[in-house]
Formats: sequence, C-alpha cells, structure tokens
Amino acid sequence: MKFNILTLFPGMFIGPFDESIIRRGRDKQLIDISLHNIRDYSVDRHQTADDAPYGGGAGMVMKVEPLSACIEHVKAQHPTSTVVMTSPQGRRFTHKIADELAARDGLIIICGRYEGIDERIRDLYVEDDISLGDYVISGGEIAAMVIVDAVTRLVPGVLGSDESATTDSFCDGLLEYPQYTRPPEFKGLKVPDILLSGNHELIRKWRRNESLRKTRTLRPDLLSDIDLTKEDRKMLAELELKDATVAR
Ligand code: SAH
Repeated sequence: MKFNILTLFPGMFIGPFDESIIRRGRDKQLIDISLHNIRDYSVDRHQTADDAPYGGGAGMVMKVEPLSACIEHVKAQHPTSTVVMTSPQGRRFTHKIADELAARDGLIIICGRYEGIDERIRDLYVEDDISLGDYVISGGEIAAMVIVDAVTRLVPGVLGSDESATTDSFCDGLLEYPQYTRPPEFKGLKVPDILLSGNHELIRKWRRNESLRKTRTLRPDLLSDIDLTKEDRKMLAELELKDATVAR
C-alpha cells in the first residue's frame, strides 16, 4: 500500500511513522509512505501557500496553485491512487471505511491547515473526504496519521498472526471482549476463571458473550448493523433476561 501525504508540516510525521507497527510495515515493504511539502510547489519568491479569504473574515486559506501542482505531480506518478481530503465535513471515519481504503491501490492524503483549503481543490481533485469526527482539529496531519495507522493494520502481513486484527473491536461489528494478562489477581480483582481453564470452547463462548454484552451496553447502535448468528441471538436473549430479572 502506497501512501502519499501532502502537507505543509512534514516534520510532524517524524516519530509516529518511525515506531512500532507502522515502522514494521515499512521495514517489511508492505507499506510505503512519502511526504510532500506543499510549500515546495509554490512558485513565488516567498513560497506562499496561503492567502486571505475572499469575502473577508478571520484566518487564511490554503491557496489553490501550490496544492494543485503538488497533487498533479504525485497523481502523475501514482495514477491509480485515490485522492483523499481530510476535513471535518467528510464522511466520518470508521473501521468499514478503513477496510475500503485498504483495498484501494494507494492513497494520496491532503492535509489542510488554517481555515481550510480553497474549495476548487475539492471540485477538481478530491475523490474521498474523510473526517475523524464532529470536532475541528488544527490540521489534517493528525487525521492523516490516524488514517494511515488504521489502514496499515489491515494490510495483510503487517500484523503478525498472534496480533491479528480479526478479533479487534469493530472488525466483526462488535466491541472486543475484555482482555487480561498476569497476575491472576490484582487488588482483589480476579481474572475470570474460564480464561485460566484452558478449555478453548468455553473460552470462545465466554468471549463472544462478553463481546455481545459490552456492545449491547456501550454501543447498542452497532448491533443493528451486523448479521447475528443463532448462538449470538441466544446469548443476547439470555443477557436481556438477566437484566430483566435484576430490574425486578
Ligand atoms: N474551517 C474548516 C476547518 C479547518 S481546520 C471548517 O470549518 O470546515 C484545518 C484543517 O484541519 C482542515 O482543512 C482539515 O484538513 C483538518 N481537520 C480539522 N478537523 C478535522 C476533522 N474532524 N477530521 C479530519 N480533518 C480535520
């Protein structure tokens, strides 16, 4: 998976892309990340990349020419890559969208700054628009890092088999079951006996049940989106019954 990131602040990516899983993905050449400084594409003497908004108002707007030149340069080298804008106005990023992006040939991610980007960039080039959520952050760089991280985890071979993404939250539409590691007891709190039992079938059932219980309590909205098995429905019915008994 090839990521091209277009930014005014390439220095921000030093660190997050040089450690742990993203580092490993790069070392194994399963992903490749190139940073492009939009300012390098501005043509005037002062390397201007922003200007005052037409119509007045606070702040600055990212200029169309340098960013356009930068996008065209990168797109010419990676014609099958998708141009993605980071913006609070985009579709809200989810596991499903990460999955979708992981299946693309490559991503060209545009990081905005200041008051945002001249709208003509969106009209001319943007194929997908991604938002981290309903709040505003100061720039698209952190959003790009989140997208690269979430997508990289889904690129086959990046995670070892012992840390596969398939049991992670959202992967099958549910939140993940609770995890524990040694010691078996801490400040009076014990790890559930079943997890120490070595009985794989009981452990699988317990985990599924806990996944359903957590999702039902914390994110009931997720349950309407997934195909539940017969076993799932039975477990949910039992959880409901338990709640009803407690309430009485
Ligand atoms: N004035 C704009 C916000 C600009 S914030 C508006 O109200 O829509 C500057 C840049 O930060 C944006 O261009 C975008 O790249 C990034 N950004 C801000 N909030 C974001 C969010 N929720 N998700 C993704 N990117 C965001």
